Amino acid sequence: MKFKKILLPLLLIFLLAFTACSKDSNNDKKKLQVVTTYSIIYDIVKNIGGDKVEIHSLAPVGSNPHEYDPLPKDLMKTTDADIVFYNGLNLEEGNSWFKKLLKSSNKSDKNSPVYMVSKNVTPIYLESNGLEGETDPHAWLDIQNGIIYAKNIRDGLIKEDPKNKDYYQTNADEYIAKLEKLHAETITALSKIPEEKRFLITSEGAFKYFSKAYNLQSGYIWEINSEGQGTPSQIKNVVDLINTKKVPVLFVETSVDPRSMETVSRETGAPIVGTVFTDSLGKPGEEGDTYYKMMEWNTKTIIDALNK
Ligand SMILES: [Zn+2]
Repeated sequence: MKFKKILLPLLLIFLLAFTACSKDSNNDKKKLQVVTTYSIIYDIVKNIGGDKVEIHSLAPVGSNPHEYDPLPKDLMKTTDADIVFYNGLNLEEGNSWFKKLLKSSNKSDKNSPVYMVSKNVTPIYLESNGLEGETDPHAWLDIQNGIIYAKNIRDGLIKEDPKNKDYYQTNADEYIAKLEKLHAETITALSKIPEEKRFLITSEGAFKYFSKAYNLQSGYIWEINSEGQGTPSQIKNVVDLINTKKVPVLFVETSVDPRSMETVSRETGAPIVGTVFTDSLGKPGEEGDTYYKMMEWNTKTIIDALNK
């Protein structure tokens, strides 16, 4: 008798706990399953999709999204995804990893639910021998293009999940307003650097869109991460450029091997004065861990270094 008295409430507790758990996992399953190719798109989707989406990002933070070897879990997530966002403009082309992944997961970039976030961006083309005619992928480094990405992501989410249209719309409006303000502040801040000092040297030529939008000149060791990195002739060309233009300082990106830039620094005497974010966000909880913060960090780093 006594045993029964204890057992019944216990059973009830178990039953309640079990129902609560399964309810939770049902809710999780109802979230729109999103896959993004790298961390910057991940963050923009997070800002607009909020708690209605569950996002899996492919190329990890700190890595190079031009070339990536998808893991078995990436294939699983992409196969199950309700929506996939990629940059396009030649970013995920390095070893054709994204094309192959789409094919293996029975998805196609020709139709929904696979969306290119750089749609409507005015492309800038590569200039190196043999690469002319190919687009430069780093459009997001101009915040106006980040806004275009946000709009495309908003439209994709609404198309695949129309019942949450108002939610996505409101989040996108707020986020885009923040980015518009940041873009205007970036123009003002960078315009204070004396004209002759506005020169940005990085390892990869990722700053073409940035330079155009914010009125700086830029130079690089190699033009795109998917090509040879730091060959002797690339080093010689950038050393000549730095000497001719009397460029005082150098920058290095968080997502590349810094050794080539260290060589350039030794050969020119120009110090490496700052680290900038290009192809990846910072690690969660560290500097530059959102698109907004990485853009803010880059501007501050460039101003601090060039205004000296
Ligand atoms: Zn890149």
